[in-house]
Amino acid sequence: MKIHTIHLASGNAHKVQEFQRLADDSGLSMKMVPPVKMPVVVEDTGTFIGNARKKAVALRAALPPDAWVLADDSGLCVDALNGGPGVESAYYAGPQGNSAANLAKLVQVLHDVPDGLRGAHFRCVLVLIDGAGREQVFEGRCDGHLLRAPRGGAGFGYDPLFVPIGHEKSLAEIDEASKNQLSHRGRAWASLCKGRLMDW
Ligand code: IMP
Repeated sequence: MKIHTIHLASGNAHKVQEFQRLADDSGLSMKMVPPVKMPVVVEDTGTFIGNARKKAVALRAALPPDAWVLADDSGLCVDALNGGPGVESAYYAGPQGNSAANLAKLVQVLHDVPDGLRGAHFRCVLVLIDGAGREQVFEGRCDGHLLRAPRGGAGFGYDPLFVPIGHEKSLAEIDEASKNQLSHRGRAWASLCKGRLMDW
């Protein structure tokens, strides 16, 4: 069986791993390849879709013309912060993009927000460009609430603070396969699988 190579417009090892697992669990013969050198992309469009498209287009321009490229842009939207940090999630505590500092800042900023007002959701937008240059966009969302202190050691980013609706454990207290079942990225992926452009 032919294995399709999908170039992922992300150097985030956790994301690459999650996408590979999503592909494997969907029974798709895909190999997710992080870029040898991701072109510098300033994520300044102000929208998830704009940023994802910018990353996808930039990487595809650096690859052979028939390459398949997948880019994602994602973030945490907090009700009490009017949807912030949103597209700025990776740089919430500063331009260096330090995950631990981002998490610590969120804990501190939400210190006085009462339990009933700690709603939040993750969003993920995927842009897939196929070998013929056709583009498709897929979205996923995961609703939940934010804890007062981080819990769990799995996952990445804001996972230790986020409890999905209907669950008790944070995303950092469940394994990757379980996270993929309910996460914004997992749901965007499910939508990609339904709307795929060809038989993989
Ligand atoms: P991006 O790489 O520009 O899409 O930045 C996404 C940022 O949003 C990450 O650096 C994390 O801070 C946050 N984020 C996105 N998805 C997740 C997730 O699944 N768990 C925890 N944090 C996430």
